[in-house]
Amino acid sequence: MAARRILQLGDPLLRVVSRPCPDLAYAERVLADLRDTLHEFQRAHSFGRGISAVQIGEPVRIIYVECERRPYHLVDPAWEWQSAETFEVWDDCFSFPNLMVRVRRAVAVRLRYREADGTPGAVEATGALSELLQHEMDHLDGVLAIDRAEGQDALATREEWERRYRQPLQ
Ligand SMILES: [Zn+2]
Repeated sequence: MAARRILQLGDPLLRVVSRPCPDLAYAERVLADLRDTLHEFQRAHSFGRGISAVQIGEPVRIIYVECERRPYHLVDPAWEWQSAETFEVWDDCFSFPNLMVRVRRAVAVRLRYREADGTPGAVEATGALSELLQHEMDHLDGVLAIDRAEGQDALATREEWERRYRQPLQ
């Protein structure tokens, strides 16, 4: 278990479609590293709630999220449903921590997954967890928040964003 280097924008591996998880021992190791990497990132940057395995160089369908005071260990997650209703939100990413991107996300989502021990799980989410899950699920398909930027004013450096916006759009 260790914090790992986070791949940065420009690394072609971030554009790969991740493969299904080969076995649960592997999932457990990767999830432990994702947790440690998330915590180190939080210490260094004072933000960050989710990370996908591809971001530490493991292009496998595994996501680790901490939101609303609990961790989520998502192995082979798959969408069941996303609401037609959407909202705009400023998004950020461990792989380009100084860039803010305004994107449009579904208000509510539901997905199925396996826990690290193989138990089937499901999560329904709105708000912060919903947008976070959509961001991380995108990573598994090689999609980045910048791909979803809408309009000429949808990108901002973090410094400029803090000066201008502060509060996320709803
Ligand atoms: Zn990201």
